[in-house]
Amino acid sequence: MSSLDEFAKAKLENLDVQHLRRTLVETVREDGVWVTRGTRRYLSFSCNDYLNLTHHPKVKAAAIAAIERYGAGAGASRLVTGNHPLLEDLERRLARLKGTEAACVFGSGYLANAGIVPALIGAEDILLIDALSHACLFAGAQLSQAKTVIFRHNDMAHLRELLREHRARYRRALILTDGVFSMDGDLAPLARLSALAAEHDASLMSDDAHGLGVLGEGRGSAYASGEKPNIDLQMGTLSKALGSYGGYLCASQAVVDLVKTRARTLIYSTGLPPANAAAALAALDLIETDAALCARPLANARSFTRAANLPLAESPIVPILLGDPVLALEAQSVLEREGFLAIAIRPPTVPAGTARLRLAFTAGHPEDEIARMAKIVREKILPLAA
Ligand SMILES: *Cc1c(COP(=O)(O)O)cnc(C)c1O
Repeated sequence: MSSLDEFAKAKLENLDVQHLRRTLVETVREDGVWVTRGTRRYLSFSCNDYLNLTHHPKVKAAAIAAIERYGAGAGASRLVTGNHPLLEDLERRLARLKGTEAACVFGSGYLANAGIVPALIGAEDILLIDALSHACLFAGAQLSQAKTVIFRHNDMAHLRELLREHRARYRRALILTDGVFSMDGDLAPLARLSALAAEHDASLMSDDAHGLGVLGEGRGSAYASGEKPNIDLQMGTLSKALGSYGGYLCASQAVVDLVKTRARTLIYSTGLPPANAAAALAALDLIETDAALCARPLANARSFTRAANLPLAESPIVPILLGDPVLALEAQSVLEREGFLAIAIRPPTVPAGTARLRLAFTAGHPEDEIARMAKIVREKILPLAA
């Protein structure tokens, strides 16, 4: 065995002991909500396909037609020969939806964050990032080489304190946050973040991967309540409610122009395939014309949290905290035996001591099944957590 194999084996054994090893399980999605694993069929609550658009006939037809007409792949980076007209269309549509001058589409949400932050912020600058922000915002922060300070989750007093302590020593400042937190389902206080940013001459970037299509009549978490806060960089993904794949940034024309010439994950990575762009465009048509569809995932999450006696859901994501990874895995098995798929989320995806089930509600989850799951959670899972 090579020394590299020995290293890998020791590392894996260590993860096994802590119940933190992850493995891939072959799973076939039959439609927006039902999946099969081996011979068993489950109702899945572990998919971010909030509007079940991955399987919508119009979305699939758009992707198939794009492949027939334009081929399967983009062929090269967008700056070389991969800038498909569908990408231009998609950018115009996203900018319009988010109320910005321009937009830039990336290969994925992860690539977007890993490209945007270092293109705009450097070693003389400071980043202030919410502690529970998505891993790819932290990746972007690391790649930027800027001074990075972490503020306690949604704690505006802490953020203000850090801005007062550090801001003056740096050229530019950028505040990074999720709009909807991916593992907790709560919302960032975007209006207060934007006011703090203005007070301290900082910019604000929000990752709204889980807001698009499901909050603010589909326009995202920035539109969820009252007046729209000023967010310089509105980032998100085409891979969740839109049912496709790819990431995007909506911002001013100047910022988007700079990102298009400087973001390394755009320049050195192949453009999004035409089928993904076409699917996202078809999904946007549905989202912009069907506010009732966009409202359903949150309504389903709320009927679940009411029935299970949990705090009222703020988004379609509902966490059930178990604490210990062994308990979270046990809770997962309880639901699996009842025909529900809800994958345990363990560190390092969430902080140590906060292993949980993360339920993602979608438009297509049947009401009676939601009620049945709530009863099981109340009777068999919440007692595990106590
Ligand atoms: C899923 C997710 C991403 C990554 O998007 P992909 O398109 O899947 O790469 C980024 N940010 C948040 C908050 C996410 O939940």
